[in-house]
Amino acid sequence: METKIEYKSDATQEFKLICEKYWSLATDRKNSFIYTCREIGKEFGFSSNEISTIAKKHATLIILDCQCSSCGTHKTCCTRSELIQLSINSWTCDDCRHQIQQLERRDYLIEAEKIRQQELEVKRNLIALLERHRQFQNLSIPSVKDISNIDHLLLVAVIESVGADNLETTISLRDNLQIPLSPLHRLDAKILRRLCSKNLLLFNTHDAEHYVEAGEQGDLKIDFFQINFNFAYNKAQLHQLIIDSKGEEFRNNLGESLEYREWCQRIQLEECIRYLNKRSEMNDLSPSISEKMESLLDICLLSYSISEVYYIIWGAVENASSYRNKPCITRIHASNSIYGNIQRRYDDITNYNLKKRQYNRDSQHPQSAVEKVFFDRVYRIRDCGFRCTVEALLNSFESEEVSNQSPYTNLLNMQNDYSSVIVNVPKI
Ligand SMILES: [Zn+2]
Repeated sequence: METKIEYKSDATQEFKLICEKYWSLATDRKNSFIYTCREIGKEFGFSSNEISTIAKKHATLIILDCQCSSCGTHKTCCTRSELIQLSINSWTCDDCRHQIQQLERRDYLIEAEKIRQQELEVKRNLIALLERHRQFQNLSIPSVKDISNIDHLLLVAVIESVGADNLETTISLRDNLQIPLSPLHRLDAKILRRLCSKNLLLFNTHDAEHYVEAGEQGDLKIDFFQINFNFAYNKAQLHQLIIDSKGEEFRNNLGESLEYREWCQRIQLEECIRYLNKRSEMNDLSPSISEKMESLLDICLLSYSISEVYYIIWGAVENASSYRNKPCITRIHASNSIYGNIQRRYDDITNYNLKKRQYNRDSQHPQSAVEKVFFDRVYRIRDCGFRCTVEALLNSFESEEVSNQSPYTNLLNMQNDYSSVIVNVPKI
């Protein structure tokens, strides 16, 4: 290292000598000194600390081969520790470092402001888009008498599950601690999306911008878990919709509806998937809920009620859990075996190799509003959507027409097959 000592004007000859010894660098080792402060002090009659103070006060060491990376100024050291800590190849003087920091801070502030303005612009555009959308919705609200039967049922389920106390808005699914809207969140979102697209639920422009993003095509990406809506109708109209949904005429119109059948099947499927997910989680398994799995459960539900499919699922997951304990069987292997187990149990029950059984609902997962409205209200039997197949329920419409008897007699007779289970069938 190339260095030069620069003495202060008031340095005496003795102090210059002390400084010279203080800064004498050993040539064989990097950043090490020939004399210790103690040795110099002993020679001149000072303590070690006094030597450091004298050196600092009367001289500085200029490092000739260390220049500021920005302005080229030579580095100077007043103490040995400064020299030891010096990184010769990447040193920047205090002034330049300060200036660089100021520039970096200014750039950062400019960039932050630019981002803030962009975000404000995005928010303004989103609010304008939402307001336009809401205006369009206001002009497109269907007359109450034009609401389809399915939308009518879905709207009643929404009112009963997430309708706020004032019956003007919904609460978000996130905040709903009462009766769930449907068995699974994906069906909740499907219901809300449908009612929103049909202008039965309207964007609440006060805070919707927090839960909506504008897509590239001017479409809206909605967080259905957090958003809340305004109802398109007033309290009296909503009240009437609830009453009408319980009426005989309304009920009779549903029997022939293919869409009603599809919704009933979908609701039952979601209920079974929810149970499959829950049982699998409890056993640290995670089967793929693919179209193939859904198709298999759909087949099960054609012949067996949710209550019986619960039994099939329960056994299938228990078998997979035992399988996992075998050597060389991974979690994925065991999870993948659930599909085959469900299929096997279905076949065994169908071929009378396994006795079918009904399972009860789990108290942590109560009946959802959509199940109450689509099943209990229509057939007037508590939780009949859980205890009966869609086919059996729909057939009850036909038998009612033929025999002109209460359809519930047939359903109750059918339930007598399940001798192991007590079924309560109170009238609603
Ligand atoms: Zn500099």
